[in-house]
Amino acid sequence: MWVQLLQHPASFPVACGLLGAMLFVWRNYLLVGEGRRALELKRQEHESLFKRHVDAIVALDSHGIVERANPAVTELTGRPAADLVGAPFMDLIAVPVHVRTAQALQTALGGKQNTIETQVPQPMGALADIELTSVPIVVNRNVVGTFEILRDATARKTMERELENRALHDYLTRLPNRALFADRLKHALRRGRRDGEYVALLYVDLDRFKPINDRAGHAAGDELLREISARLRTVVRDADTVARLGGDEFAVLLETVDSETQAITAAERIVALVRAPVVVDGEEHQVGASVGIAVSSPETEQPEQLVHQADVAMYDAKRRGGFQYRLYSPELEQVSSDWSLKLEAQLRRAIEKNELDLQYQPIVNSSTHEIVGVEALVRWTHPEHGPLLPASFIPIAEESSLIAELDRWVLDHGCREIQRLVDFGIADEGFFLSVNLSARHFDEPDFVAEISDILLRTKFDPDRLQLEITESSAGGDIEKVRMLKALGVKVAIDDFGTGFSSLSYLRDLDVDVLKVDKSFVFSLGADPASVAIVRTILTLAEMLELEVIVEGIEDETQLRHLEDLGGSFVQGYLFGRPVPASSLPPILSARTVIPGKAIVAPQPAPPEATDLPGRPDSPRKWVS
Ligand code: C2E
Ligand code: MG
Ligand code: MG
Repeated sequence: MWVQLLQHPASFPVACGLLGAMLFVWRNYLLVGEGRRALELKRQEHESLFKRHVDAIVALDSHGIVERANPAVTELTGRPAADLVGAPFMDLIAVPVHVRTAQALQTALGGKQNTIETQVPQPMGALADIELTSVPIVVNRNVVGTFEILRDATARKTMERELENRALHDYLTRLPNRALFADRLKHALRRGRRDGEYVALLYVDLDRFKPINDRAGHAAGDELLREISARLRTVVRDADTVARLGGDEFAVLLETVDSETQAITAAERIVALVRAPVVVDGEEHQVGASVGIAVSSPETEQPEQLVHQADVAMYDAKRRGGFQYRLYSPELEQVSSDWSLKLEAQLRRAIEKNELDLQYQPIVNSSTHEIVGVEALVRWTHPEHGPLLPASFIPIAEESSLIAELDRWVLDHGCREIQRLVDFGIADEGFFLSVNLSARHFDEPDFVAEISDILLRTKFDPDRLQLEITESSAGGDIEKVRMLKALGVKVAIDDFGTGFSSLSYLRDLDVDVLKVDKSFVFSLGADPASVAIVRTILTLAEMLELEVIVEGIEDETQLRHLEDLGGSFVQGYLFGRPVPASSLPPILSARTVIPGKAIVAPQPAPPEATDLPGRPDSPRKWVS
């Protein structure tokens, strides 16, 4: 046919047209084939990713029905992928979290990817904690279904729960700590108001504990505290709470009392039980209890009100010689307020007259033992009572705006003293000063501007300044943390692990440094869980790209427990006690410290949290 066509010149164009059309079809055929092959390759790539992904992945249609599931889903749920196809995705999810999970699917079907925490029942009946990411599947600009990616979060959740448990319990006695107690008190009062019932709060402060602790040693002191805790627990019902607030202070919460008499009976038993001798290491010791009782009335709104009353009553019991209880009455107020007002006035004067001092404790690189910075710690030599540790006067300053003045004094003074070392070439390039800030000061509106002023005034390089804030103060204002960082200042979370720490919150907060509280280090020998927790915190910090400073390392054994600290930093008596600025030049010139061998003979240890005569403790800061 071709020959015939070509033999007739008239039909030549027809032949060419036909040929062109055939070539066109042929080329398209080749192209389509190539496209198909490329598509097939892509499909296989996708399939490999889908099948081999370590996370469980489920593809759903727009009604939430499973279209496909990868083998990891079977591992997680114990159900073969084929059984799941055609079933609602919700069948995989634990019932109590259905609503939340359904909302997440709806959000994804609306075109918005999102991640939530949910739970999936496992073959043996246990519930797995899952991080669920819902991804919209978009075809031609329409959402036709979703991919559900299920990531096992059990390890992380366990770690969070462990940390939370640690944050809410006292490591020595395992009793609830101040934070948990404050929470229980708040709820008890709310319930009391609702049901018209009374709540009683008993504050217990031990008498003559300190001399035993000093004479027989801390281990004996700890043993005694554990024994007293066990006795206190026998006084209350299951619904009630016994907490250790710190040191030798305890609190008892009686959830429902019919009358004051019931609270008095409990206090009488406490006084009697505590005064019974305690035998530690074959030696008999006797301590006493000063108990302050406060009973709520239906008008009691604020926990602080009850706490204050119990505190005032306890102080009165103490003033009368201890080993007794006192019930709160308004007449007791005068005595208490006189005391703290006097101390507050004296502290105000001391700040104005520049009578406070700073001591500096080295912060050391854990592998090279190089000194990288110092933490400024305030000291006050009281005209009558002698040298005081911050625990004796900071809480009083925190009750008023005085704390901001104290913080400003410390910052100004610290920057000047360290700047002098910089000017003399004694402080290295990266050497930094770490300063503690109180939550109350941090909350003030002009706080960031103030820091900036002080830096300008003292000509202190912001890169050399680290500000230590606590978990609770930082939580309130993420923006402020950002503004501080914008100044060039580093921000550290102090005493990490003692507040209500949530790991996800840390992620948002964007601080630079975590200071692991010394209570974790103290319990390293006695409590194997502590090692695991400190390691976990280190791993977490690494994930969040945070630096870590582990506080309170006192001896070689604790250091050995923490041998694999990696690139973090340490602080503690083993590397140096707090010293005045005048002792810093020789320490810094040596650059490194040998653990246990301070270069300068350490200052005599200040008297431990010197109790002021006539007053067992300073007023407390409560519920955050
Ligand atoms: P912090 O910020 O956690 O400071 C560390 C505390 O642990 C210091 O107690 C330090 O002397 C002590 N320490 C360091 N290494 C060891 C160790 O190996 N073993 C033991 N047992 N303790 C160690 P300090 O000076 O009594 O301060 C207590 C707290 O008072 C500080 O805890 C901080 O929260 C507050 N504070 C101190 N100075 C200031 C200040 O200038 N401003 C504010 N707002 N608070 C301050
Ligand atoms: Mg600190
Ligand atoms: Mg600390």
